[in-house]
Amino acid sequence: MNLHTSPEGTSARTSFAVLNPATAKAVGHAPNNTLADLDAAVARAQTAFQTWSQTPDADLQAYCTKVAEAIGTHAEELAQLVTQEQGKSLNGLGSRWEIGGAQAWAGYTASLSLPVKTLQDTDQGRVELHRKPLGVVGSITPWNFPVMIAVWHILPALRTGNTVVVKPSPFTPLATIRLVEIMQSVLPANVVQVVTGDDKDINLGAAMSAHEGIRKIVFTGSCATGRRVMQTAADTMKRLTLELGGNDAGIVLPDADPAAIAEGLFWGAFINNGQTCAAMKRLYVHTSIYDAVCEHLVAFAKTIPVGDGQDERSILGPIQNQKQFDKVARLVEAAKTKGRVLLGGQAGEGLFYPPTIIADLDASDLLVSEEQFGPALPVIRYSDLDEAIAAANASENGLGGSIWTSDIVKGRALANRLECGSVWINKHGAIQPNAPFGGVKQSGLGVEFSEEGLAEYTDIQVVFS
Ligand code: NAD
Repeated sequence: MNLHTSPEGTSARTSFAVLNPATAKAVGHAPNNTLADLDAAVARAQTAFQTWSQTPDADLQAYCTKVAEAIGTHAEELAQLVTQEQGKSLNGLGSRWEIGGAQAWAGYTASLSLPVKTLQDTDQGRVELHRKPLGVVGSITPWNFPVMIAVWHILPALRTGNTVVVKPSPFTPLATIRLVEIMQSVLPANVVQVVTGDDKDINLGAAMSAHEGIRKIVFTGSCATGRRVMQTAADTMKRLTLELGGNDAGIVLPDADPAAIAEGLFWGAFINNGQTCAAMKRLYVHTSIYDAVCEHLVAFAKTIPVGDGQDERSILGPIQNQKQFDKVARLVEAAKTKGRVLLGGQAGEGLFYPPTIIADLDASDLLVSEEQFGPALPVIRYSDLDEAIAAANASENGLGGSIWTSDIVKGRALANRLECGSVWINKHGAIQPNAPFGGVKQSGLGVEFSEEGLAEYTDIQVVFS
């Protein structure tokens, strides 16, 4: 791959360096595409849509299956790229796991379909519900799971007959450029393309949100940017799927077994170094087992090796970028003035920050009320379950939440009291391609995955005959 080459014939005039967060060294360069490059990509995607949207459903399915296979063929190469630019480990729940997930999601999405539904077929006539592709879909992705999230956007769009222009985060464009090249090798021309930029002089994401040739934006990123996308997209009445931030709470009931749940609690919070939309970002523990839960959680956390993601021994890597590092460090410093540091709490070298667990915080602490999006977990003591549930719900976000208990029936019964799109019992953050995923309140709009997610890439047309 020549990372200085612009995508599919566009004319990038400059490029920008992409840094490895573990070493601060450049791992490659990506094109700084212009607005004219974006216009050209959208025009090509519109032309490609004419044929792609008319492609028989079985052929769309076969193409998407080939995409899944191609991801599998290039899995190790993609994983290495993700680790180099994103920083996450190759092993554990790192880049190999991410690429494996991307392949699985692509394969499953290929297998889905939205057949014509007959709503009525009587002497009075027939009424059918058809799903029609929208046109060009603009996909805007974040830096935490660059390949997996791009696949979550691109595959359902292609499967339903849309064409796609994807724009990755400036922090992690290289794996997406390669992913799109791999997809292009098995797809007709211009069905999927990528544009990249450093967000300095030109904001390609904003330009996509405003673009008259784009019919839908699928966006994964922060709530603040999501709001901007929604405002900008209003003028052209674009369809939107917004997967935004979360401040997920976990609630440990007094009957939970501290030793048994420690590993699940840790990974619920620290997967991808906490840089995960649906990571557990606040943990509420009943006072009767508070100390035992903290002790087991800290003991498990101490077993996790942190280091350069390219070192096969590492299980967690550095924080992805300086801005995110500064945010985590700021929130931890503020939390230390009141809370008890049980683990970590001191920045390492460069962008390394160890898993940090801080006890004795409450709702007035920023580490509890803000989405830290990093390896720092506040543990909050409660004595009244109603109060814990109210505190969990006292957030503008509503992505996920979890209940930890030895009584699964009780856990399930509590699920509907949590105001969030996903509730997990004795786990946190599990997702699967046949289950819709999305946030309520200000965590987003619409869902991804499953037939429900697929339908968001279509308009309904009802035919009366
Ligand atoms: P971000 O909002 O800063 O950036 C996301 C993308 O938006 C990038 O590609 C960026 O270039 C682009 N962008 C920047 N300005 C834009 C504008 N004005 N209009 C359109 N696009 C613009 O988010 P991030 O820092 O990359 O990711 C971290 C955030 O993403 C966290 O808040 C996290 O919770 C959220 N996230 C959510 C999910 C989910 O599924 N709900 C998944 C991953 C991350």
